[in-house]
Amino acid sequence: MGLQFAVVSRFSSVNAPYGLDAVLQYHRAISFVALAFVLAHPTIIMIRDTAQLELLNPITAPWRARFGLASVVALVLLIATSVWRTRFRLAYEWWRVLHGVLAVAIVVTALLHIEGVGYYVDGPWKRGFWVAMSLALVALLANIRIVKPIRLLRRPWRVESVRGEPGDTWVLTLVPDGHPGMRFFPGQFAWIRIDRSPFSIHENPFSMSSSADRTDAIEFTISSAGDFTSTLGAVEPGTRAFVDGPYGVFTYELNEGPEFVFVAGGVGIAPILSMLRTMAERDDRRPCLLLYANPSWDDVAHRDEIDRLVEQLDLRVVHVLEDPPAGWDGESGLIDDDVLERHLGRGQHRARYFICGPPPMMVAVEELLGARGIPGEHVDHERFDIM
Ligand SMILES: Cc1cc2nc3c(=O)[nH]c(=O)nc-3n(C[C@H](O)[C@H](O)[C@H](O)COP(=O)(O)OP(=O)(O)OC[C@H]3O[C@@H](n4cnc5c(N)ncnc54)[C@H](O)[C@@H]3O)c2cc1C
Repeated sequence: MGLQFAVVSRFSSVNAPYGLDAVLQYHRAISFVALAFVLAHPTIIMIRDTAQLELLNPITAPWRARFGLASVVALVLLIATSVWRTRFRLAYEWWRVLHGVLAVAIVVTALLHIEGVGYYVDGPWKRGFWVAMSLALVALLANIRIVKPIRLLRRPWRVESVRGEPGDTWVLTLVPDGHPGMRFFPGQFAWIRIDRSPFSIHENPFSMSSSADRTDAIEFTISSAGDFTSTLGAVEPGTRAFVDGPYGVFTYELNEGPEFVFVAGGVGIAPILSMLRTMAERDDRRPCLLLYANPSWDDVAHRDEIDRLVEQLDLRVVHVLEDPPAGWDGESGLIDDDVLERHLGRGQHRARYFICGPPPMMVAVEELLGARGIPGEHVDHERFDIM
């Protein structure tokens, strides 16, 4: 359970090889394993000696058992509120606060339980191990909550502009304020805070949509999804911002190939646009296909720029519209196997695939690619709904 703190600590050495999506899936799965072990522990004790059932009564039980019980209850609460967050109507930010408080409570009460029982701390080496582990956890928390925010405070950004794009989407441009900006791979993302202290719990992850070679500013393409994103339009130029990044492995820089197929749905175009813009800047002429799905033509963000990129790159663009306008002779409906069959050329087994969009689209396209015999290691995705 202590190691869970390291898993979600945003250390690039932990995240870089796998990506946030895989790390969070591991974090989730391993907490169920932890729960199984933690529940097995009192169960085995009670089965061996039913008299120990009294330890479950928090009024009469000794403190060591109370701490153990509190730790288990906090763990069950933490898992229940994570699995059923939307059912409990918990706002994302408040869930994150609760998650952090419960996680610390679980580990602290578990350590007090271990100390109270004394069995695992009855020798200097064993005690030394638990003390070192507790100190490591405190150091991890201090790093996330104090050291990192202080570092961010020294590298502020300013909002240069917020402009609207089709599809209820905003393009937010940030400029570095007194520092050289941020280097990133095209397709990566960062956690941003607008008009909030870097110590605030309110931060949201967004993919950079600008070219990785542009150093004077970074751009994000953001669709209105809830509290923060739907009020972006009201943000004034000059507002202070903080950017924690870059993170993620959704980038051709880490998955090079002779040609690329990009599959975007709605605002999933953001990290893909960053890759295309960077390729244009670097005069990269490797063949690219962009399958770009949207509800209607009026929802297609960055469509003029994508037209311009076609001129600069060896890029074919296929718009797939669910509700096409009258006279539309392009693809309509959803991205299905017929669409793939018509547009994936002979190089489909060589190409690297990058998929980003609504979860059902991503699952469907990954299954279709698998059925076409495209090796899984050629397919990369970025999920926007991982929490
Ligand atoms: C790696 C990654 C890259 C992303 N890139 C983009 C992008 O380029 N453009 C874009 O429009 N969206 C992107 N998103 C999604 C974006 O982060 C959420 O839509 C946004 O944070 C919602 O914030 P809100 O306060 O407006 O919505 P809320 O009403 O608060 O939440 C709506 C839903 O968004 C999710 N969410 C809310 N806050 C967060 C948070 N702090 N972290 C993660 N998820 C959250 C939750 O599932 C929540 O239920 C990305 C998400 C991830 C994980």
